[in-house]
Amino acid sequence: MRTLITNGTIVGADGSTAADVLIDGEKIALIGRNLAATVTADETLDATGKYVIPGGIDVHTHMELPFGGTFAKDTFESGTRAAAFGGTTSIVDFAVQARGASLRQGLDAWHAKAEGNAVADYGFHMIMSDVNDATLAEMDGLVAEGVPDFKLFTAYPGVFYSDDGAIFRAMQQTAKNGGLIMMHAENGMAIDVVAADLVGEGKTDPYYHGVARYPIFEGEATNRVIRLAEAAGVPVYIVHLSARDAMNAVREARDRGVGVFAETCPQYLFLSLEDLGHGFEGAKFVCSPPLRPADHQEELWTGLIKDDLQLVSTDHCPFDFEGQKELGQGDFRMIPNGLPGVEDRVDLLHDGGVVAGRISPERWVEIVSTAPAKLFGMFPRKGTIAVGSDADVVIYDPKATRTISAKTHHMDVDYSCYEGRQVRGQSDIVLSRGSVIVRDGQFTGRKGAGKFLKRSIADYARIS
Ligand SMILES: [Zn+2]
Repeated sequence: MRTLITNGTIVGADGSTAADVLIDGEKIALIGRNLAATVTADETLDATGKYVIPGGIDVHTHMELPFGGTFAKDTFESGTRAAAFGGTTSIVDFAVQARGASLRQGLDAWHAKAEGNAVADYGFHMIMSDVNDATLAEMDGLVAEGVPDFKLFTAYPGVFYSDDGAIFRAMQQTAKNGGLIMMHAENGMAIDVVAADLVGEGKTDPYYHGVARYPIFEGEATNRVIRLAEAAGVPVYIVHLSARDAMNAVREARDRGVGVFAETCPQYLFLSLEDLGHGFEGAKFVCSPPLRPADHQEELWTGLIKDDLQLVSTDHCPFDFEGQKELGQGDFRMIPNGLPGVEDRVDLLHDGGVVAGRISPERWVEIVSTAPAKLFGMFPRKGTIAVGSDADVVIYDPKATRTISAKTHHMDVDYSCYEGRQVRGQSDIVLSRGSVIVRDGQFTGRKGAGKFLKRSIADYARIS
């Protein structure tokens, strides 16, 4: 199958150019002007007035994650399909090592959830719940089989929490095997104290979830894990950075020359603590770190502009308001933490970034696709329109407008955090490894077509 994309503007992290793209099978075969005059194709897609961009890559999702006695609702099928509608053609999800089990058992369980179900390509990071001699030894094997990142938490005592010694040991191991430690950096011990105090005062509404998790607790933990990484001589990656305090810690470390990398998420750029108000409705916006006062948002945009934040992922972890978020009626600590978002990331960043005049179209592509591919060992197979790369291609209409709503989204969840918000920019046609999987608002892909992405260690790790 040969597909020719004509008359579009290829937008890449390094620049934009008017050129046609020939796809042969699963790969990009040729890029050039007026290709229709010299090559034949089975199908021609006209991209006049549209961008031709590499498919979005969301490196932080939680399909079917068990949390707080329930499960994140999207499966690998519904979640990757929703992602595709939003122009995202690869995800990296978090496999979970259950306490007392091996990493292997956790990874096998996640392979079983995804294989035969995902409609587009997927990789895994590994959440480590126990750091001990056995799991440390297992890390090397996972790096070798394409799961080179390990997430640890300074939050969630008694669940995912690791103490500083455990974090440091895991970092020492990545110094040897080339893997990357990803950190959820909030001081969970201190947060639990404040949260218990608030509940004791009768402050049980979702709003107090946001109050309890002080920005300084994120700043402190971010600085701490960066310092631990410096001591271990390894890079570190901060997930879902939300607060000015944490942004400052990352910026200062980068200015010292430390290999610290960080992502933020759309919810921290577009939503705020106020959304957690309105009584129990605020449960729809409960995630960790929490939504921050609105004045933190511009700091994060500045981070994206200056590359102190390298990319935006979603932390997609959807729970229905009805029946799932409701578990936290009367105690915000019992609300499952997580928001839906995998479908809206590319458009929100286009609208709030490019249309709003904060970033260029090229930087937008870098943030949603190229940087994730480079930092997570997928480049140049993913994240670029280049000869030989996988034909994960989005024909993107930068002028289309749509209104985000739970009535029309494809995520398997009963609400949208962005209900009624109008955005400019929308994916028109989405290809995954050469196959059209979304066209004219219809899914044309196939359950199980997604393949496991065996990833290498990150680019920066290969040159150091
Ligand atoms: Zn997460």
